[in-house]
Amino acid sequence: MRTADDSVDPMTAPSPAPSRLPALSASRAKEYQRCPLQYRLHVVDRIVEPATRATAMGTLIHSVLEDLFDFPAVERTDERAQEILGSRWEQMSQDPGVASLFEDDSDRASWLASTREVLAGYFRVEDPTRLEPAAREERIEAVTPEGVRLRGFVDRIDAAPTGALRVVDYKTGKAPSPRFQDEALFQMRFYALLLQLTRALPARTQLLYLKAGQVLTMDPRADDIDRFRQRIVDLWGSIEADARRGEFPPRRNPLCNWCGVRALCPLFEGTPPPLDERRIEWLLSTRVA
Ligand code: SF4
Repeated sequence: MRTADDSVDPMTAPSPAPSRLPALSASRAKEYQRCPLQYRLHVVDRIVEPATRATAMGTLIHSVLEDLFDFPAVERTDERAQEILGSRWEQMSQDPGVASLFEDDSDRASWLASTREVLAGYFRVEDPTRLEPAAREERIEAVTPEGVRLRGFVDRIDAAPTGALRVVDYKTGKAPSPRFQDEALFQMRFYALLLQLTRALPARTQLLYLKAGQVLTMDPRADDIDRFRQRIVDLWGSIEADARRGEFPPRRNPLCNWCGVRALCPLFEGTPPPLDERRIEWLLSTRVA
């Protein structure tokens, strides 16, 4: 395991760039709910997990769909998307971390073929020739009225002539069954909250599951998003309390078998590194004074 690049330490840099300021994201908030120790190891200790085939597929497809909208509407076809994928893959495959994910040429070719199939699935759920996005791959940062800094990366924002906004996120993994849609709804509410705080409450949020050709839609209501904001603020309060105590307890859960930091978990005979006080101070500045 390795830690993230420390070349600019947020605790010593005289004027930290905005990107180094701590903020709570949807995925980290969910992670904390699942297991506070896992959250701590990723956010406070900056343990970076190596790329996997699934993350490589996600990165590749997101970059293709971002580039696709650079072309005139009539040219946004499956063929064009597959061409972009070819050139993007050329660049990405130079990365030794990505190259090492495959045993040999045939293994790589089979992964690439399944990635192309997932990309083709996009055209079953949307017609990009009829869309003109207002934003793509947008990083949104907002501070709640309670002072908690939030951050998210939104794949696409569409704006209707009426001004109504739609937030769209592409998913390359499996679509959740109705019993397990909680995480997806959490993410959509989080995006709605970010938009509400920075622009306007979106009329619609959608997760596009490309492989399954499914779309999960939620039309946010202001009262629901207000309650969600309170949930997030309370969640941040719990993280703050753990940080001040210096204790982020492990919580066994159904995803432990897939946990990338399990080797450092006391429930599995591991030992977490000592807590770095400066990193705790940095984390606590998520709440803006
Ligand atoms: S193995 Fe399970 S309990 Fe341990 S850190 Fe990972 S998610 Fe948490």
